[in-house]
Amino acid sequence: MTERTLSIIKPDATRRNLEGKILAKIQDAGLKVVAMKRVRWTKYQAEKFYEVHRERPFYQDLVAFMTSGPIVLMVLEGENAIARYREVMGATNPEEAAEGTIRAEFAENIEANSVHGSDSPENAAKEIAMCFDGAEIVG
Ligand code: GDP
Repeated sequence: MTERTLSIIKPDATRRNLEGKILAKIQDAGLKVVAMKRVRWTKYQAEKFYEVHRERPFYQDLVAFMTSGPIVLMVLEGENAIARYREVMGATNPEEAAEGTIRAEFAENIEANSVHGSDSPENAAKEIAMCFDGAEIVG
């Protein structure tokens, strides 16, 4: 099944100039970039994006981190893109991430873990709509 998922290159990775290396891993996995833009989120945008985590103890830290520098938003398309991209990303905690994954290679810690990827078709649709206008997505 062809799916779309939202990918974010987080501020720890843009700060270290890792966009190209991360993009290579995404494209080598057969995922197609159908939308891409570099932005800096306001506190409001980050709070809204991570609303599902608002009760978690790290919520305010996460919002501060995600607004600490530029991020790169992408829509990725491909066969089972949601699960496939989560495999390419690796586990949330880089100490638990499989070898060769983006987080194993580049993440600094469990929070500054270089990338985001949607975790379900429902969240992918919601996150993509939050970040892109339809006309910005070109398949
Ligand atoms: P993901 O789907 O793998 O990104 O993980 P989650 O949805 O559980 O968490 C969202 C994001 O919150 C993660 O990617 C991290 O940036 C951050 N995060 C998750 N767990 C922790 C934690 O225990 N401490 C801190 N400081 N941040 C966390």
